[in-house]
Amino acid sequence: MSDTKAVAMENDISVISEAARGFLRAEHRMLINGARVASVTGKTFPVIDPTSGHEVARVPSGDGDDVNAAVAAAREAFDGGPWPRLKPSGRERIILKLADLLERDAEEFAEIESVNSGRTLANTRAFDVDLSVDYLRYMAGWTTKIHGETFSPSVPYLPGADFFSFTLREPVGVVGAITPWNVPLGQAIWKVAPVLATGCTMVLKPAEQTPLTALRFSDLLDEAGVPPGVVNIVSGFGETVGATLVEHPGVDKIAFTGSTEIGQLIASIAAPALKRYTLELGGKSAMVVLADADPETCIPGTAMGIFGNHGQNCCAGSRLYVHRDLFDTIVPGVVDFARNIKLGAALEPTTEMGPLVSRGQQERVLGYIESGVNDGAELLTGGHAVQSTGAYVEPTVLGNVRRDMKVVQEEIFGPVLVVTPFDDLDDVVEQANATKYGLGASIWTRDVQQVHRLIPRLKAGTVWVNTHNVLDLAVPFGGVKHSGVGRELGAEAIRHHTELKTATIAL
Ligand code: ADP
Repeated sequence: MSDTKAVAMENDISVISEAARGFLRAEHRMLINGARVASVTGKTFPVIDPTSGHEVARVPSGDGDDVNAAVAAAREAFDGGPWPRLKPSGRERIILKLADLLERDAEEFAEIESVNSGRTLANTRAFDVDLSVDYLRYMAGWTTKIHGETFSPSVPYLPGADFFSFTLREPVGVVGAITPWNVPLGQAIWKVAPVLATGCTMVLKPAEQTPLTALRFSDLLDEAGVPPGVVNIVSGFGETVGATLVEHPGVDKIAFTGSTEIGQLIASIAAPALKRYTLELGGKSAMVVLADADPETCIPGTAMGIFGNHGQNCCAGSRLYVHRDLFDTIVPGVVDFARNIKLGAALEPTTEMGPLVSRGQQERVLGYIESGVNDGAELLTGGHAVQSTGAYVEPTVLGNVRRDMKVVQEEIFGPVLVVTPFDDLDDVVEQANATKYGLGASIWTRDVQQVHRLIPRLKAGTVWVNTHNVLDLAVPFGGVKHSGVGRELGAEAIRHHTELKTATIAL
């Protein structure tokens, strides 16, 4: 990684705006019932910049009492407050205002997110800020388009009687939203936007590693005119704030994005209470390159399929299967791409990949690489930490892997790709489906018939063709098998935040 020497590996905080620096210096508060509050215990915990390893802020460490207060506020705002009763166009106007405010402060949000998550400004701007602005606008449009159906029932056992039936879509209630650290503000807005559109209320718990942009977002809610108690934000840890939220009888639905293990735990607690839940969990997505694929599309496309966002994407293409005819073209191309990715500080403009989110994540990813090598995998490139204060891991490609290896079966959530040649289509389909996950998959080919034959055979919530990781707010996203339950985005998000009520009237 000789190139890395040319790039600053430590963040220079003086390059960010005075607004972002002012926010980082400020005393941080949670949002409960419209008020900015410290935790009941007064405890705080540090937020670390993974580029420098330094503490950049301290935020309130919420616990059960804070969650109880936040749920009570959300409950009151739902059961008696104005938000669910507001005309749809009234909610639409406020959500549009919220989008405008986020757009106004876009640079500050991107800067805070880059410092907190170690991702480049281009990345945080695109996926945390701009996409969030778009999603708020998209969901604002839904407010006026949520409707039921009408029926003319026959009711054969009551001949001669006439009835009219219709359905209503009503808000599901108080939503407990728990988000991960990989795209912190983006994930928070994936939860906030459908809650606001459907007239629900919520308590949001951002990941403990990356709570800053969610707390900064609190300022915009009041300015946009979202009534107190509609969105409450409690910072803290999973075992305390998250667990209390999941168990709380005042919460009607859990919207969770995170690991499969915690998703299973949440389902086991929510199911007996018959609480609604949507779970967007882990992945081990396969990218399948057929013999006729175009190498010029495939090499950068599959490389970004894994290395985009440092591999810290649930749908990252972490397994690459290449037809043997193309193996010696595609794999050296991807290895070369990986070697040329410029690692550096998140705030340094020439950086292409920053550090991972934390030292803990760096150790976890390096541990997986070591296990792969110990199991007999061949390190084709990368494989090491970079000597610096930051949590950097070199983009890594492992060859000579077997399907029983941990690096092939388990989600690493870092810049690590495993590559395997194949000869037979049935065999590669079987291999692509042979993990417990089913979030994404991609097919790389110019043969339209193969595309149509393979899409139904791949067990995944999303199948991309000649691309990977492309998400759009109108297009549903989620997983099958251990990758989750339910879908986010698009009309599906509206469906998951509403209950269907049926009414029948005797005429
Ligand atoms: P990761 O390992 O990538 O951090 P997690 O699933 O542990 O993924 O974390 C995702 C989110 O779930 C975070 O906000 C975290 O605090 C929260 N979380 C962790 N443990 C629990 C739990 N027992 N109950 C509810 N939420 C939790």
